Amino acid sequence: MTSDSNASRVFSFEFFPPKSPEAEARLQRTRERLARLNPLFFSVTFGAGGSTRDRTFETVVEIQRSGGIDASPHLSCIGATPESIREILAQYREHGIRHIVALRGDMPSGTGIVGTGDFRYASELVEFIRAEHGDHFRIEVACYPEVHPQADDADADLRHFVHKVQCGADSAITQYFFNADAYFYFADRCQDAGVTIPIVPGIMPIINFKQLARFSDACGAEIPRWLRKRLAAYGDDKASLQAFGIDVVSDLCEQLLDGGAPGLHFYTLNQAGPTEAIWRNLELPVDTTAAPA
Ligand code: FAD
Repeated sequence: MTSDSNASRVFSFEFFPPKSPEAEARLQRTRERLARLNPLFFSVTFGAGGSTRDRTFETVVEIQRSGGIDASPHLSCIGATPESIREILAQYREHGIRHIVALRGDMPSGTGIVGTGDFRYASELVEFIRAEHGDHFRIEVACYPEVHPQADDADADLRHFVHKVQCGADSAITQYFFNADAYFYFADRCQDAGVTIPIVPGIMPIINFKQLARFSDACGAEIPRWLRKRLAAYGDDKASLQAFGIDVVSDLCEQLLDGGAPGLHFYTLNQAGPTEAIWRNLELPVDTTAAPA
C-alpha cells in the first residue's frame, strides 16, 4: 500500500455519546489515542426520536471545541419536525460544525412512532438540509451492501439509495459486513446506476460475540456461519476472541482497501484498542506529533 493511496483515502471513527462522567473521561482518552491516526472526522451517534439529543450535542460540541479533529453529528429524522431539525442544524452551524451524517433512524420499540411524521425517509432529510443550508454541510448517508432489513428487495433498496444520493449526499457509509464480496458487488451496482460519491465501508471490530450477534440480527448484517461458529467456540475467553477478531477484521479491511475502497469508517464502540490494532496490521500511518483531540 503506497502513501499516495493513503493520502486520498478517507478514514473516520464513530462514537456513541457517553452516559456518565466516567464514560465521558474514557471517551476523552479514546479520542486522544485515535486522533493520532488523523481521521477526517469523528462522528457521534444519535438516538432516533431524540433520546440522546442533548448528549450527542454536547459530545459533538466538545470534540469540535477541542480543535484537533472535525466532529460530525449523526442526525435522524424519524419522529422529528421541520422546526426541531431547523433548530438543531442552526445550533450545530453556530458551533462551527460542517459535517452531518443524515439518517432516518429506527424508533426504539414501544414509542408508538412508526415513521409517518414529517420526514419518512433519510432522502427527505438530505433535501431539507440542502434547501435550508445549501452547501454549508458535507452530508454523509447510510447504505446497505447486504440490503436494509425493511427493504422490499435489493433492487428497490438500491433505487432508494440512488435517490438519496441525488437529493444531495456527498458521501456514504455502509452498514458493517464481514463479506468483502457483498461490498464490491454493491459498489459496482451503484456505479452502474451512476453513483459517483465515495462509498466508505463501515467496519465493526469484534469485541463481544453476544453483543455482535444481537446487533447483527437487528440490523440485518450477516455473520457468516464459519465466523459465527468460531466466535461462539471461544466462550468466555475474551482475549482469544478479540485477537481472532482483530485478525479477521484486519484481513477484511486489507481486501477492501486493496480492492479500491475509498477509505474506512470504524464503529469504535468507544474503544481505541481494537481500531488501533487493525490500523497497525494495515500499516497505516500514525501521527506521533498529533495534538490531543
Ligand atoms: P433510509 O435511507 O430512509 O432507508 C430506510 C428504508 O426505507 C430502506 O429500506 C429503504 O430502502 C426504504 N426507502 C427509502 N426511501 C424510500 C422511498 N422513497 N419509498 C419507499 N421506501 C424507501 N440509527 C440511529 O438511530 N442513530 C444513529 O446514529 C445511526 N447511525 C448510523 C450510521 C450508519 C453509518 C449506518 C449505516 C446506520 C446508522 N443508523 C443509526 C441506523 C439507521 O438509522 C437504520 O438503519 C434505519 O433503519 C435506516 O436509516 P437510513 O438513513 O438508511 O434510512
